[in-house]
Amino acid sequence: MAEDTIFGKIIRREIPAAIVYEDDLCLAFKDVNPQAPVHVLLIPKKPLPQLSAATPEDHALLGHLLLKAKEVAADLGIGDQFRLVINNGAEVGQTVFHLHLHILGDRPFSWPPG
Ligand code: 5GP
Repeated sequence: MAEDTIFGKIIRREIPAAIVYEDDLCLAFKDVNPQAPVHVLLIPKKPLPQLSAATPEDHALLGHLLLKAKEVAADLGIGDQFRLVINNGAEVGQTVFHLHLHILGDRPFSWPPG
């Protein structure tokens, strides 16, 4: 079950996390293994395993996540220079199967990503 990921445990406060934002629909917390000076994960409370599992029913939720991502970035001081990453699938780097947006910033980034 998607609820049984480590992120489900963070939502339910079964394991600790450095939470930086929360509302009824989503939660943002610092990545435990940061890849940039600012690296926060923004997740829906709904246990969608990955973006490709979203349906039209998730339209408003996905919009909410994008708008909150830019607000969280601004709150963290990287509001005009940040990168959002969604890894969708194990072959492209997804390790936790609960949808999450990586919010990264406060250092230069290159392109293409590795
Ligand atoms: P993915 O590789 O699935 O796109 O990203 C998963 C992210 O979750 C990784 O950046 C990893 O460091 C982070 N992560 C994994 N387990 C935990 C945890 O228990 N707490 C926090 N805060 N981050 C975690």
